Amino acid sequence: MPRPSYLLFVFLLAGMIAGLTAAPFTSPTPQTRQIALGDISQEKPMFRVLLEPDQDFPPIIAPGPTDWLAMHEEPGQTFGQYISSGANWRNSQRNVIYILPLGKFSSANSPSLELLRDYAARFFQMEAKILPAYQPTEQEFSPRNNSFTNERQILATEILEFLPTRLPKDAYCLIAVTMDDLYPAPSWNFVFGMANLSTRVGVFSFARYAQGLDGADNTALQKQILHRACKVLVHETGHMCGILHCVYYECLLNGSNHLAEADKRPQQLCPVCLRKLKFCIGSGFDPVKRYKELAEFYRKQGWSEELAWTERQLAKAESLRKKIESKEQSSLPAKQ
Ligand SMILES: [Zn+2]
Ligand SMILES: [Zn+2]
Repeated sequence: MPRPSYLLFVFLLAGMIAGLTAAPFTSPTPQTRQIALGDISQEKPMFRVLLEPDQDFPPIIAPGPTDWLAMHEEPGQTFGQYISSGANWRNSQRNVIYILPLGKFSSANSPSLELLRDYAARFFQMEAKILPAYQPTEQEFSPRNNSFTNERQILATEILEFLPTRLPKDAYCLIAVTMDDLYPAPSWNFVFGMANLSTRVGVFSFARYAQGLDGADNTALQKQILHRACKVLVHETGHMCGILHCVYYECLLNGSNHLAEADKRPQQLCPVCLRKLKFCIGSGFDPVKRYKELAEFYRKQGWSEELAWTERQLAKAESLRKKIESKEQSSLPAKQ
């Protein structure tokens, strides 16, 4: 299938650039959100109940002046547009998410790579593996000192050119993670991450994730860094699945322009994006099993908000299962 040109675009997670403004954002109507979700009558009842746009899926709120949608005009992507996009669906040959550590990870301010791997595997219902770390040389990837922070940064576009040389044959995608700060071009201050969908590679930095946490004790700091890192990892891997930014609900796939906006974004997918993910993963995607596995992760990490949300989805599934079971019981012929 030919790839539409948007798959060649590079996605910037966020970066501060002056002077960008977009036409005022118009909040989608319930009808727009319904059209975006599409006709779900052919989906299994158990999945349909999880796509119900109830209070667990608040509509997207209008952006503040420095938020993503105030600066970037995005039309959204309906489920119908998604399935005709020819994105990078998972298949039997390419079905592993690879994580490549780039540079050094100190235990004091870095997220656990094993927990990131585990979270990605549960979220995408796909095998996820960590590759041996790659240590760039001192001069590799055009290092510079940022003029505001005076911290060392490396050039994300050069990393994107390098990563395809490390792409294993069975890779669904390859995500490099680094504690070095990134910049996407000389005129930019920084970027959290970039991905190239046509080559299925991306790079994301966790260098700025300890911001705003001065004075936090080490456990709280680690917890917040992991929370942020998990969120960016699954957001960006969602882009690798060809899912564009969501403009319908408060959703993991909303764009974010700064850390405070990223922090507000939920860890979960809205009905439109969840339906896209199921389509991308294809056979073997069991939404209830996925929520059970995610709940287990949230419980272990003490992410109470995410756990409560996920348990509510599981309760919806359980209630439907009981209804179906009692219907089946009542339709059984009476004992003689
Ligand atoms: Zn994004
Ligand atoms: Zn969404």
